Amino acid sequence: MAGYVPGEQPGTDRVVKLNTNENPYRCSPAVDRAVQEALERGLQRYPNPMGEAFRQKASEVLGVPADWMMCGNGSDDLLTIVTRAAVGQGQLLRLPYPSYILYKTLAELQGARSEEVHFNHDWSLPATFGKSANDLRLVFLPNPNSPSGTVAPPEEVLDLAERLPCPLLVDEAYVDFAQRNCLDLVARCEKILVSRTLSKSYALAGLRFGYVVAQPHVIEHLVKVKDSYNCDALSIAAATAAIGDQVWLADNRAKILATRARLAESLGKLGFKVTPSEANFVWVTHPEQPVRPLFERLKQQGILVRYMDYPGWGDGLRISVGADEQIDVCLQRLAAMM
Ligand SMILES: *Cc1c(COP(=O)(O)O)cnc(C)c1O
Repeated sequence: MAGYVPGEQPGTDRVVKLNTNENPYRCSPAVDRAVQEALERGLQRYPNPMGEAFRQKASEVLGVPADWMMCGNGSDDLLTIVTRAAVGQGQLLRLPYPSYILYKTLAELQGARSEEVHFNHDWSLPATFGKSANDLRLVFLPNPNSPSGTVAPPEEVLDLAERLPCPLLVDEAYVDFAQRNCLDLVARCEKILVSRTLSKSYALAGLRFGYVVAQPHVIEHLVKVKDSYNCDALSIAAATAAIGDQVWLADNRAKILATRARLAESLGKLGFKVTPSEANFVWVTHPEQPVRPLFERLKQQGILVRYMDYPGWGDGLRISVGADEQIDVCLQRLAAMM
């Protein structure tokens, strides 16, 4: 099989990196202090297997009981655990298209089949996405979606879950940049699982920490599949401090949303068709000119954006909402090329 290929990580600070939706700002200073303190306590002991400190803090912040949550080594770890728990060899996993390509790789690793259901052209979900099918065991829905940044409203997600014969994992990797989320639905429907990550909105992609929320009897099954100590002591300490600093999150969110609005407007003025985004990136196509050469010329100039070509759908650029200076450089260079 072909493995999943993550976005390019150039290993130098000289590039303007707008290709993997990282947060351009440093994380909350509370995180630095928490890691320092954890180090001072020493690392000779195994961590709490469930990341209990994080679950307690997240429970306060989110209003979800601690035993409704499981922590993961990044949300990719959680997606793997959920796939392994739900889908056996030859069974079926469904995902929308275009979306996060990793889901398909996870199915393949399980010897499972995957079914890609195309979004409508306005990025809404077709009714067929909620259809029953033989051996259908898991449905993934990134919400907001990548690469589009578009959202399926919670009412629609609940309706979808109720029609499905299997669990629905709502991947909320970008939800802190959106207007609404699906967390409340977990209590209303046992088929709904919500996964989140600290990589994007908490500026901790280098840390590797995520969590999944589901009803406690579902969590119990997921725990059987995870590694005993899937999160280390430093990351549990850091993630607990990060989710405890909601003031930092609100400030950061406001900055990113302001830059996103400016980026979208400026790209529109350059003639791009900009998909309205509720994430920390924007998806653009161009009605008159091919975008691949733009991606290549930006790259030659040290500006990395993500070029995506989806067979049967089309291509476009996904540009992460960087810091204002980075966005200015990117926009200037694009303007010079058009
Ligand atoms: C970035 C991303 C993730 C992975 O997050 P990690 O916690 O860094 O593993 C999951 N789903 C989607 C849709 C993403 O874009």
